[in-house]
Amino acid sequence: MDETSIPFNKPYVAGKELYYIAQSISFGNISADGRFTKACNELLCERFNLGSSLMVTSCTSALEMAAILCDVEPGDEVILPSYTFVSTANAFVRAGVKPVFVDVRPDTLNMDETQIENAITSRTKAIVPVHYAGVACEMDTITEIADRHGIYVVEDAAQGMHAYYKGRALGSIGHMGTYSYHETKNYVCGEGGTLTINHPELTTRAEIIRDKGTNRQQFFRGAVDKYTWVDVGSSYVLSELSCAFLYAQLEALDEIRALRKQVFDNYRDLLGGLEKEGFLQMPVIPDECDTNYHMFYILLKDQETRDSLMQYLREHDINAVFHYIPLHTSPMGRSFGYREGQLPVTEDLSGRLLRLPFFNEISFSQQERISDWINSFLAQRTYRMAA
Ligand SMILES: *Cc1c(COP(=O)(O)O)cnc(C)c1O
Repeated sequence: MDETSIPFNKPYVAGKELYYIAQSISFGNISADGRFTKACNELLCERFNLGSSLMVTSCTSALEMAAILCDVEPGDEVILPSYTFVSTANAFVRAGVKPVFVDVRPDTLNMDETQIENAITSRTKAIVPVHYAGVACEMDTITEIADRHGIYVVEDAAQGMHAYYKGRALGSIGHMGTYSYHETKNYVCGEGGTLTINHPELTTRAEIIRDKGTNRQQFFRGAVDKYTWVDVGSSYVLSELSCAFLYAQLEALDEIRALRKQVFDNYRDLLGGLEKEGFLQMPVIPDECDTNYHMFYILLKDQETRDSLMQYLREHDINAVFHYIPLHTSPMGRSFGYREGQLPVTEDLSGRLLRLPFFNEISFSQQERISDWINSFLAQRTYRMAA
Protein backbone atom coordinates (compact mmCIF):
# COMPACT_ATOMS: atom_id res chain seq x y z
CA MET A 1 0.00 0.00 0.00
CA ASP A 2 1.13 3.53 -0.84
CA GLU A 3 1.84 5.26 2.48
CA THR A 4 3.13 8.61 1.24
CA SER A 5 1.20 11.76 1.94
CA ILE A 6 -1.76 12.47 -0.35
CA PRO A 7 -1.92 16.07 -1.58
CA PHE A 8 -5.21 17.84 -2.16
CA ASN A 9 -4.36 18.69 -5.76
CA LYS A 10 -1.70 17.82 -8.30
CA PRO A 11 -1.57 19.60 -11.68
CA TYR A 12 -1.81 17.19 -14.59
CA VAL A 13 0.38 17.24 -17.69
CA ALA A 14 -1.43 15.85 -20.72
CA GLY A 15 1.76 15.22 -22.73
CA LYS A 16 2.43 17.78 -25.48
CA GLU A 17 2.75 20.93 -23.34
CA LEU A 18 6.54 21.36 -23.71
CA TYR A 19 6.45 20.43 -27.38
CA TYR A 20 3.86 23.13 -28.10
CA ILE A 21 5.78 25.70 -26.06
CA ALA A 22 8.89 24.88 -28.11
CA GLN A 23 6.83 25.29 -31.28
CA SER A 24 5.54 28.67 -30.19
CA ILE A 25 9.14 29.82 -29.63
CA SER A 26 10.14 28.60 -33.08
CA PHE A 27 7.16 30.42 -34.62
CA GLY A 28 8.76 33.63 -33.32
CA ASN A 29 5.76 35.04 -31.46
CA ILE A 30 5.57 34.44 -27.74
CA SER A 31 3.62 37.52 -26.66
CA ALA A 32 -0.03 37.14 -27.62
CA ASP A 33 -2.57 36.31 -30.29
CA GLY A 34 -0.37 33.90 -32.21
CA ARG A 35 -1.21 30.48 -33.54
CA PHE A 36 -1.86 28.81 -30.19
CA THR A 37 -4.15 31.58 -29.01
CA LYS A 38 -6.17 31.15 -32.21
CA ALA A 39 -6.13 27.37 -31.88
CA CYS A 40 -7.42 27.57 -28.28
CA ASN A 41 -10.19 29.98 -29.29
CA GLU A 42 -11.27 27.82 -32.22
CA LEU A 43 -11.34 24.67 -30.14
CA LEU A 44 -13.31 26.32 -27.30
CA CYS A 45 -15.84 27.95 -29.63
CA GLU A 46 -16.41 24.76 -31.57
CA ARG A 47 -16.62 22.35 -28.66
CA PHE A 48 -18.74 24.59 -26.43
CA ASN A 49 -20.74 26.42 -29.06
CA LEU A 50 -19.60 29.86 -27.87
CA GLY A 51 -20.29 33.09 -29.76
CA SER A 52 -16.65 34.07 -29.31
CA SER A 53 -13.89 33.72 -26.76
CA LEU A 54 -10.97 35.82 -25.59
CA MET A 55 -7.90 34.36 -23.89
CA VAL A 56 -7.03 36.38 -20.79
CA THR A 57 -4.64 36.24 -17.84
CA SER A 58 -7.13 34.71 -15.37
CA CYS A 59 -10.78 34.12 -14.66
CA THR A 60 -10.53 37.15 -12.39
CA SER A 61 -9.49 39.26 -15.41
CA ALA A 62 -12.38 37.82 -17.41
CA LEU A 63 -14.81 38.79 -14.63
CA GLU A 64 -13.36 42.31 -14.47
CA MET A 65 -13.84 42.67 -18.22
CA ALA A 66 -17.39 41.36 -17.92
CA ALA A 67 -18.13 43.99 -15.27
CA ILE A 68 -16.94 46.75 -17.63
CA LEU A 69 -19.00 45.25 -20.47
CA CYS A 70 -22.11 45.30 -18.26
CA ASP A 71 -21.65 49.11 -18.16
CA VAL A 72 -21.75 49.16 -14.38
CA GLU A 73 -21.69 52.50 -12.59
CA PRO A 74 -21.02 53.27 -8.93
CA GLY A 75 -24.15 52.48 -6.95
CA ASP A 76 -25.28 49.70 -9.28
CA GLU A 77 -25.91 46.20 -7.93
CA VAL A 78 -25.14 42.64 -9.00
CA ILE A 79 -26.75 39.50 -7.63
CA LEU A 80 -24.44 36.62 -6.75
CA PRO A 81 -24.00 33.86 -4.20
CA SER A 82 -22.00 34.55 -1.05
CA TYR A 83 -20.65 31.02 -1.29
CA THR A 84 -18.02 31.71 -3.98
CA PHE A 85 -14.45 32.82 -4.61
CA VAL A 86 -13.68 36.49 -3.86
CA SER A 87 -13.16 37.37 -7.53
CA THR A 88 -16.83 36.87 -8.40
CA ALA A 89 -17.60 39.83 -6.12
CA ASN A 90 -14.37 41.83 -6.43
CA ALA A 91 -14.60 42.19 -10.20
CA PHE A 92 -17.77 44.24 -9.70
CA VAL A 93 -16.96 45.83 -6.34
CA ARG A 94 -13.81 47.48 -7.71
CA ALA A 95 -16.10 49.29 -10.17
CA GLY A 96 -18.17 50.68 -7.29
CA VAL A 97 -20.90 48.06 -7.48
CA LYS A 98 -22.73 46.70 -4.44
CA PRO A 99 -22.76 42.91 -4.20
CA VAL A 100 -26.24 41.59 -3.39
CA PHE A 101 -25.78 38.12 -1.95
CA VAL A 102 -28.43 35.42 -2.16
CA ASP A 103 -28.43 32.09 -0.38
CA VAL A 104 -27.57 28.75 -2.01
CA ARG A 105 -29.62 25.63 -2.66
CA PRO A 106 -29.02 22.88 -0.10
CA ASP A 107 -28.62 20.21 -2.81
CA THR A 108 -26.02 21.74 -5.18
CA LEU A 109 -24.70 24.72 -3.15
CA ASN A 110 -25.50 26.81 -6.22
CA MET A 111 -27.27 30.16 -6.10
CA ASP A 112 -30.91 29.61 -5.05
CA GLU A 113 -32.80 30.76 -8.14
CA THR A 114 -36.01 31.24 -6.15
CA GLN A 115 -34.38 34.12 -4.22
CA ILE A 116 -33.23 36.14 -7.20
CA GLU A 117 -36.47 37.92 -8.09
CA ASN A 118 -36.76 39.45 -4.60
CA ALA A 119 -33.19 40.73 -4.78
CA ILE A 120 -33.72 42.73 -7.98
CA THR A 121 -33.95 46.54 -7.76
CA SER A 122 -33.83 49.37 -10.29
CA ARG A 123 -30.03 49.39 -9.84
CA THR A 124 -29.48 45.69 -10.66
CA LYS A 125 -27.18 45.31 -13.67
CA ALA A 126 -26.41 41.60 -13.69
CA ILE A 127 -26.90 38.16 -12.19
CA VAL A 128 -23.69 36.18 -11.71
CA PRO A 129 -24.41 32.47 -11.26
CA VAL A 130 -21.43 30.42 -10.07
CA HIS A 131 -21.46 26.79 -11.21
CA TYR A 132 -20.10 25.24 -8.04
CA ALA A 133 -18.02 22.06 -8.41
CA GLY A 134 -18.85 21.93 -12.14
CA VAL A 135 -22.59 21.41 -11.55
CA ALA A 136 -24.82 23.89 -13.37
CA CYS A 137 -27.06 26.48 -11.73
CA GLU A 138 -30.75 26.44 -12.72
CA MET A 139 -30.05 28.44 -15.88
CA ASP A 140 -33.53 28.42 -17.47
CA THR A 141 -34.98 30.22 -14.47
CA ILE A 142 -32.02 32.60 -14.17
CA THR A 143 -32.09 33.50 -17.88
CA GLU A 144 -35.85 34.02 -17.81
CA ILE A 145 -35.63 36.42 -14.84
CA ALA A 146 -32.72 38.33 -16.42
CA ASP A 147 -34.51 38.69 -19.77
CA ARG A 148 -37.68 39.92 -18.12
CA HIS A 149 -35.73 42.62 -16.25
CA GLY A 150 -33.35 43.44 -19.12
CA ILE A 151 -30.21 42.65 -17.14
CA TYR A 152 -27.07 40.66 -17.93
CA VAL A 153 -26.18 37.11 -16.99
CA VAL A 154 -22.45 36.52 -16.45
CA GLU A 155 -21.70 32.86 -15.74
CA ASP A 156 -18.76 32.31 -13.42
CA ALA A 157 -17.82 28.97 -14.97
CA ALA A 158 -14.31 28.94 -13.44
CA GLN A 159 -15.05 25.39 -12.29
CA GLY A 160 -17.51 24.63 -15.06
CA MET A 161 -15.60 24.15 -18.29
CA HIS A 162 -16.79 21.07 -20.22
CA ALA A 163 -19.84 20.70 -17.96
CA TYR A 164 -23.39 21.03 -19.32
CA TYR A 165 -26.90 22.20 -18.49
CA LYS A 166 -29.62 20.52 -20.59
CA GLY A 167 -26.94 19.74 -23.16
CA ARG A 168 -25.58 23.30 -23.36
CA ALA A 169 -22.00 23.98 -22.29
CA LEU A 170 -21.57 26.18 -19.22
CA GLY A 171 -20.19 29.50 -20.37
CA SER A 172 -22.33 29.39 -23.52
CA ILE A 173 -25.66 30.22 -21.88
CA GLY A 174 -25.32 33.69 -20.33
CA HIS A 175 -24.46 36.91 -22.18
CA MET A 176 -20.93 36.23 -21.03
CA GLY A 177 -19.08 33.54 -19.12
CA THR A 178 -15.66 32.98 -17.62
CA TYR A 179 -13.28 30.01 -17.40
CA SER A 180 -10.17 29.56 -15.26
CA TYR A 181 -6.96 27.66 -16.03
CA HIS A 182 -5.47 28.11 -12.59
CA GLU A 183 -3.58 24.98 -11.60
CA THR A 184 -6.40 23.86 -9.30
CA LYS A 185 -8.96 23.66 -12.13
CA ASN A 186 -9.68 20.83 -14.58
CA TYR A 187 -7.75 22.32 -17.52
CA VAL A 188 -4.68 24.31 -16.58
CA CYS A 189 -1.83 26.50 -17.81
CA GLY A 190 -0.56 27.78 -14.46
CA GLU A 191 -2.61 30.97 -14.54
CA GLY A 192 -5.03 31.89 -17.28
CA GLY A 193 -8.66 32.31 -18.23
CA THR A 194 -11.19 32.90 -20.97
CA LEU A 195 -13.99 35.41 -21.37
CA THR A 196 -16.77 33.81 -23.40
CA ILE A 197 -19.17 36.09 -25.25
CA ASN A 198 -22.48 34.87 -26.59
CA HIS A 199 -23.86 38.23 -27.67
CA PRO A 200 -21.86 39.36 -30.71
CA GLU A 201 -22.45 43.07 -30.10
CA LEU A 202 -20.19 42.84 -27.03
CA THR A 203 -17.21 41.34 -28.85
CA THR A 204 -15.58 44.42 -30.39
CA ARG A 205 -15.64 46.33 -27.11
CA ALA A 206 -14.32 43.27 -25.26
CA GLU A 207 -11.33 43.12 -27.62
CA ILE A 208 -10.59 46.78 -26.91
CA ILE A 209 -10.84 46.39 -23.12
CA ARG A 210 -8.53 43.38 -23.26
CA ASP A 211 -5.95 45.29 -25.29
CA LYS A 212 -5.26 48.32 -23.07
CA GLY A 213 -8.28 50.24 -24.34
CA THR A 214 -6.95 50.35 -27.89
CA ASN A 215 -8.49 49.24 -31.18
CA ARG A 216 -5.41 47.24 -32.08
CA GLN A 217 -7.40 44.12 -32.99
CA GLN A 218 -9.43 46.10 -35.55
CA PHE A 219 -6.15 47.52 -36.89
CA PHE A 220 -4.73 44.00 -37.35
CA ARG A 221 -7.85 43.02 -39.26
CA GLY A 222 -7.45 46.07 -41.48
CA ALA A 223 -10.73 47.60 -40.27
CA VAL A 224 -8.99 50.85 -39.21
CA ASP A 225 -5.77 52.35 -40.62
CA LYS A 226 -4.09 53.17 -37.29
CA TYR A 227 -4.60 52.01 -33.77
CA THR A 228 -5.23 54.32 -30.88
CA TRP A 229 -6.75 54.77 -27.41
CA VAL A 230 -10.54 54.47 -27.73
CA ASP A 231 -11.92 53.16 -24.41
CA VAL A 232 -11.01 52.04 -20.90
CA GLY A 233 -9.02 48.84 -20.68
CA SER A 234 -6.04 47.04 -19.29
CA SER A 235 -3.54 44.38 -20.28
CA TYR A 236 -5.66 41.28 -19.98
CA VAL A 237 -4.03 39.33 -22.83
CA LEU A 238 -2.72 35.82 -22.14
CA SER A 239 0.78 35.00 -23.35
CA GLU A 240 1.15 32.74 -26.36
CA LEU A 241 3.39 30.50 -24.22
CA SER A 242 0.53 29.88 -21.81
CA CYS A 243 -1.84 29.23 -24.70
CA ALA A 244 0.62 26.69 -26.10
CA PHE A 245 0.61 24.85 -22.76
CA LEU A 246 -3.16 25.09 -22.54
CA TYR A 247 -3.71 23.81 -26.07
CA ALA A 248 -2.17 20.47 -25.09
CA GLN A 249 -4.71 20.29 -22.24
CA LEU A 250 -7.64 21.23 -24.46
CA GLU A 251 -6.71 18.53 -26.95
CA ALA A 252 -7.13 16.11 -24.03
CA LEU A 253 -10.53 17.55 -23.08
CA ASP A 254 -12.40 14.23 -23.04
CA GLU A 255 -9.52 12.14 -21.75
CA ILE A 256 -9.15 14.41 -18.71
CA ARG A 257 -12.88 14.33 -18.07
CA ALA A 258 -12.87 10.52 -18.19
CA LEU A 259 -10.01 10.35 -15.67
CA ARG A 260 -11.91 12.64 -13.31
CA LYS A 261 -15.14 10.71 -13.73
CA GLN A 262 -13.33 7.58 -12.57
CA VAL A 263 -12.01 9.34 -9.46
CA PHE A 264 -15.48 10.71 -8.70
CA ASP A 265 -17.17 7.34 -9.22
CA ASN A 266 -14.62 5.61 -6.99
CA TYR A 267 -15.39 8.01 -4.13
CA ARG A 268 -19.12 7.44 -4.62
CA ASP A 269 -18.64 3.68 -4.42
CA LEU A 270 -16.26 3.81 -1.48
CA LEU A 271 -18.35 6.22 0.61
CA GLY A 272 -21.83 5.11 -0.44
CA GLY A 273 -22.22 2.90 2.65
CA LEU A 274 -21.50 5.79 5.03
CA GLU A 275 -24.06 7.93 3.22
CA LYS A 276 -26.70 5.19 3.50
CA GLU A 277 -26.04 4.93 7.22
CA GLY A 278 -26.48 8.67 7.58
CA PHE A 279 -22.89 9.62 8.48
CA LEU A 280 -22.31 11.96 5.57
CA GLN A 281 -23.79 13.31 2.34
CA MET A 282 -22.20 13.20 -1.12
CA PRO A 283 -22.64 15.70 -4.00
CA VAL A 284 -26.06 15.84 -5.69
CA ILE A 285 -26.16 16.22 -9.47
CA PRO A 286 -29.61 17.19 -10.78
CA ASP A 287 -30.84 15.34 -13.90
CA GLU A 288 -30.48 18.35 -16.19
CA CYS A 289 -26.80 18.74 -15.24
CA ASP A 290 -23.88 16.91 -16.75
CA THR A 291 -20.86 17.56 -14.53
CA ASN A 292 -17.17 17.82 -15.40
CA TYR A 293 -16.22 16.17 -12.08
CA HIS A 294 -14.39 19.22 -10.81
CA MET A 295 -14.47 18.25 -7.16
CA PHE A 296 -15.62 15.69 -4.63
CA TYR A 297 -16.89 16.97 -1.30
CA ILE A 298 -18.70 15.43 1.63
CA LEU A 299 -21.05 17.13 4.07
CA LEU A 300 -20.70 16.16 7.72
CA LYS A 301 -23.13 16.46 10.62
CA ASP A 302 -21.80 19.79 11.89
CA GLN A 303 -18.74 22.04 11.79
CA GLU A 304 -17.13 20.41 14.81
CA THR A 305 -17.30 17.01 13.06
CA ARG A 306 -15.92 18.49 9.83
CA ASP A 307 -13.03 20.22 11.58
CA SER A 308 -12.10 17.13 13.64
CA LEU A 309 -12.26 14.86 10.59
CA MET A 310 -10.10 17.28 8.59
CA GLN A 311 -7.56 17.30 11.44
CA TYR A 312 -7.70 13.50 11.75
CA LEU A 313 -7.08 13.04 8.03
CA ARG A 314 -4.13 15.46 8.19
CA GLU A 315 -2.65 13.37 11.01
CA HIS A 316 -2.82 10.49 8.55
CA ASP A 317 -1.15 12.48 5.74
CA ILE A 318 -4.34 13.16 3.81
CA ASN A 319 -4.91 16.74 2.74
CA ALA A 320 -8.64 17.29 2.77
CA VAL A 321 -9.64 20.94 2.87
CA PHE A 322 -12.65 23.13 3.57
CA HIS A 323 -13.82 25.63 0.97
CA TYR A 324 -15.23 29.16 0.91
CA ILE A 325 -15.68 31.35 3.94
CA PRO A 326 -18.99 32.99 2.96
CA LEU A 327 -18.26 36.41 1.48
CA HIS A 328 -21.08 38.12 3.40
CA THR A 329 -19.39 37.30 6.74
CA SER A 330 -15.90 38.38 5.58
CA PRO A 331 -14.52 41.79 6.59
CA MET A 332 -15.34 43.16 3.12
CA GLY A 333 -18.82 41.64 3.20
CA ARG A 334 -19.46 43.25 6.59
CA SER A 335 -18.38 46.61 5.18
CA PHE A 336 -21.45 46.38 2.92
CA GLY A 337 -23.65 45.85 5.99
CA TYR A 338 -23.98 42.06 5.86
CA ARG A 339 -24.12 40.04 9.06
CA GLU A 340 -23.96 36.45 10.15
CA GLY A 341 -27.41 34.88 10.19
CA GLN A 342 -28.58 36.44 6.93
CA LEU A 343 -27.85 33.48 4.66
CA PRO A 344 -28.54 30.41 6.81
CA VAL A 345 -28.05 27.69 4.17
CA THR A 346 -24.70 29.15 3.07
CA GLU A 347 -23.50 29.50 6.66
CA ASP A 348 -24.58 25.99 7.59
CA LEU A 349 -23.21 24.13 4.55
CA SER A 350 -19.89 26.00 4.34
CA GLY A 351 -19.12 24.87 7.89
CA ARG A 352 -19.92 21.23 7.20
CA LEU A 353 -18.25 20.77 3.82
CA LEU A 354 -14.98 18.90 3.34
CA ARG A 355 -13.26 18.55 -0.05
CA LEU A 356 -11.37 15.30 -0.54
CA PRO A 357 -8.08 15.03 -2.46
CA PHE A 358 -8.98 15.11 -6.15
CA PHE A 359 -6.58 14.95 -9.07
CA ASN A 360 -6.43 13.01 -12.31
CA GLU A 361 -3.72 10.60 -11.24
CA ILE A 362 -4.85 9.72 -7.73
CA SER A 363 -4.68 5.94 -7.43
CA PHE A 364 -7.51 3.67 -6.35
CA SER A 365 -5.45 2.52 -3.39
CA GLN A 366 -4.99 6.14 -2.28
CA GLN A 367 -8.75 6.64 -2.51
CA GLU A 368 -9.29 3.46 -0.50
CA ARG A 369 -6.89 4.73 2.14
CA ILE A 370 -8.85 8.01 2.37
CA SER A 371 -12.13 6.14 2.63
CA ASP A 372 -10.74 3.77 5.28
CA TRP A 373 -9.63 6.65 7.51
CA ILE A 374 -12.97 8.42 7.09
CA ASN A 375 -14.68 5.18 8.06
CA SER A 376 -12.48 4.66 11.08
CA PHE A 377 -13.04 8.24 12.26
CA LEU A 378 -16.81 8.16 11.90
CA ALA A 379 -17.12 4.64 13.38
CA GLN A 380 -15.54 5.76 16.66
CA ARG A 381 -18.09 8.42 17.32
CA THR A 382 -21.76 9.19 17.39
CA TYR A 383 -21.48 11.49 14.44
CA ARG A 384 -24.47 10.32 12.55
CA MET A 385 -26.69 13.03 11.12
CA ALA A 386 -30.30 13.33 12.20
CA ALA A 387 -32.58 11.28 9.94
C1 LIG B 1 -10.89 29.71 -9.34
C2 LIG B 1 -12.09 30.57 -9.34
C3 LIG B 1 -12.05 31.91 -9.74
C4 LIG B 1 -10.75 32.63 -10.05
O1 LIG B 1 -10.02 32.09 -11.08
P1 LIG B 1 -8.56 32.70 -11.43
O2 LIG B 1 -8.26 32.15 -12.78
O3 LIG B 1 -7.64 32.20 -10.36
O4 LIG B 1 -8.68 34.18 -11.43
C5 LIG B 1 -13.21 32.64 -9.80
N1 LIG B 1 -14.40 32.08 -9.48
C6 LIG B 1 -14.49 30.79 -9.07
C7 LIG B 1 -15.82 30.23 -8.74
C8 LIG B 1 -13.34 30.00 -8.98
O5 LIG B 1 -13.44 28.73 -8.56
